[in-house]
Amino acid sequence: MIYADLHIHTMYSSDSIIQPKTLIDMLLKHNFIKVAAITDHDSIRACKITKTLASDYPDILIIPGVEISTTAGDMLIIGTEELPPKPWNPQDIIDYAKAIDAISIAAHPYRLYGMGDTIKTLQNIDAIEILNGGSSLTANQQAKQTAKELHISGTAGSDAHQTTDLFNVYNKIQTNLNTDNILHAIKKGLITTVHTTTTNT
Ligand SMILES: [Zn+2]
Repeated sequence: MIYADLHIHTMYSSDSIIQPKTLIDMLLKHNFIKVAAITDHDSIRACKITKTLASDYPDILIIPGVEISTTAGDMLIIGTEELPPKPWNPQDIIDYAKAIDAISIAAHPYRLYGMGDTIKTLQNIDAIEILNGGSSLTANQQAKQTAKELHISGTAGSDAHQTTDLFNVYNKIQTNLNTDNILHAIKKGLITTVHTTTTNT
């Protein structure tokens, strides 16, 4: 079992102040969350730097990713160190993620910049973020309902823009500390979301 935060912004997102080194330190200090996905807004600049910093420590793992401002709302791609080609239509992003063995996730769908019910018109999206650290309970519940309706996996992400937001929600994933295995397990639904203050989804 591994524990992961799948939605984190570094200082390479214009609206975040988290430094790559701080994120690494937080993972090293945490008792059990040892995996973090970097998902800056429309930028992959932090991925290589942070992965390199993490490579000195075998018990933590950085998964590169990005949060794309698609024409219909925000979408995460987890498992990429490259930006997809434009135009950034949601269906093209899903297809791109699939082609490079990454995964596509609708970020905070029922909040500002979320895709809302557009998700229901898309083909083969891998997951929906059903627990976003910055979303209201109602918005998260609605996302959970949509994931259930569509029979796709639900993920959690702090959507941290400052260190105090990090790991406020996280995922329990039934696999080991390996990026490909983690992505595979998410697609297979071997994932549970946890809110740190309520102990449960
Ligand atoms: Zn975000």
